[in-house]
Amino acid sequence: MASALPFDARDSWQNHLGNQSVDPLRIYEPESIEQVAAIVGEASRTGVTARAVGSGHSWSDVALTTGFVILTGQLSRVPATEPDFLRPEWADRHLVRAGAGIRIKELNAYLDERGLALSNMGGYDHQTVAGVVSTSTHGSGIAFGPLSDFVRSVDLVAGNGRVYRIERADGPTDPDAYAAHHGDRRTLRQSDAMFDAVSVSMGCMGVLCTAQLEVEPKYFLKEVREFHTWDRVRADLEEGEVLRRNRHYEVLFSPYRRKHAYPCLVTTRNYTESPEHKWFDKRTRNWAVELVSAFPLTPNIINLIVDLRPSLCPFLLENAIRALIKDEYSEVSYKVLNIGAANVLPAYSAEIGVPMDGRHLEAVDRIIAVADERRRLGEAYQSSPISFRFVKASPAHMSMMNGRDTMMIELIQLSRIEGGYELLAAYEEALYELGGRPHWGQVNTLTGSHDFVRSMYPTYDAWLQVRRELDPDGVFDSPFTKRVGISAERFAP
Ligand SMILES: Cc1cc2nc3c(=O)[nH]c(=O)nc-3n(C[C@H](O)[C@H](O)[C@H](O)COP(=O)(O)OP(=O)(O)OC[C@H]3O[C@@H](n4cnc5c(N)ncnc54)[C@H](O)[C@@H]3O)c2cc1C
Repeated sequence: MASALPFDARDSWQNHLGNQSVDPLRIYEPESIEQVAAIVGEASRTGVTARAVGSGHSWSDVALTTGFVILTGQLSRVPATEPDFLRPEWADRHLVRAGAGIRIKELNAYLDERGLALSNMGGYDHQTVAGVVSTSTHGSGIAFGPLSDFVRSVDLVAGNGRVYRIERADGPTDPDAYAAHHGDRRTLRQSDAMFDAVSVSMGCMGVLCTAQLEVEPKYFLKEVREFHTWDRVRADLEEGEVLRRNRHYEVLFSPYRRKHAYPCLVTTRNYTESPEHKWFDKRTRNWAVELVSAFPLTPNIINLIVDLRPSLCPFLLENAIRALIKDEYSEVSYKVLNIGAANVLPAYSAEIGVPMDGRHLEAVDRIIAVADERRRLGEAYQSSPISFRFVKASPAHMSMMNGRDTMMIELIQLSRIEGGYELLAAYEEALYELGGRPHWGQVNTLTGSHDFVRSMYPTYDAWLQVRRELDPDGVFDSPFTKRVGISAERFAP
């Protein structure tokens, strides 16, 4: 029984940056799927809400609950203890089922030891597998969808405490072998509609306990970082070849004109051979920049400068971009895909996905206009370069990339800059007019008004239908689901 499990009562939970915190009723740290089922069952019986949290790397309120917080750090075995029961036609594929609470960093280490690797990842590796899947975390490269698209099967504890294995209709699990092992204690659902709903569900469908990912043989990447102006980058994006030719292509951009041009850093990453015989210089990024960034006081000094003299931001942004120029950095894939020192800056960000049908280029004009207007009206500044990443359309109903190739625009602000949140909200509104969708895990001001969510996500009703089945009583409701208007229907008149 869950009541026999240890928990902390009325303790505080806060996210990684410390900009989101809550004093929930209880904090649990289960070690098995059975314990998760017992906790959720107790929440359901007592009418309390529950929510799984990963490593707390969301800047938004998406992981908060005032009921039972379920920490997932102990659900981090790889391979997971839950057996796969593979259908014969899946036997030759590179699959790994991981405990959902494992961090990307430890998963990468495990895969590396076995000559395997993730096909793509975000720019950081401290988040958990379930965390990145649940918010549709992504990297860049138009041939790749978000990380959720690499998931083939999940084990999930739903709102009534029942354990489900969910995958596509042609998913990897052999139904007969699964039934023979679990009997009617567990349910296998092989349904595209259910899988596309659960794969990106922001903690609203249940607690993910395992995720089976499709990976590939270990590979190496060569990264090149060049300075360009926005005019050149815009022309390249319009033409589109840069996206097709490079495995990964991304841009850092300053919205402030310097000497008649907007500065950009273009990063490309492509396959290369093992760099083991190359000089140290080719196997590191700009090491002086990395070293200075790793120095604990550096972020505070930068933060202090932008706090005292925000008008220096245009100068600082161009210089930050120029400092990152590098002709070659070759390493094993997961090191190159991790953007490195920038991740440790005390900063927060919003990220909006816009469709790549021409509106993505218009979006950059809007950003320039908003940055200029806010600078003139209230001396509000963009304090960090803006990133553009390119992600393939995803079938997941609530992925920011659902149904359309997407340019993800990440608007990062140093934590001390004055007016930072207001500037992000102004960009957000301008980008909503171009069909923008906010990253669930990043700062956003989305609300349940204007039927916003339904208008952004064409298959929202299909997602809701699965939510009704897996969480009919709203056990996984939260301040976030209430804010954006996606709570269970217990509030309906
Ligand atoms: C430094 C930094 C770098 C980042 N880089 C990127 C990037 O490159 N690309 C990108 O797209 N995003 C990026 N993000 C955003 C981040 O990847 C997402 O917010 C991600 O969801 C955080 O994962 P987490 O493990 O910390 O989950 P949390 O923030 O703890 O939770 C996120 C959501 O997942 C749910 N959840 C967590 N575990 C479970 C579970 N076991 N079962 C069910 N639901 C669960 C929670 O309820 C919540 O809704 C970055 C964030 C930071 C702080």
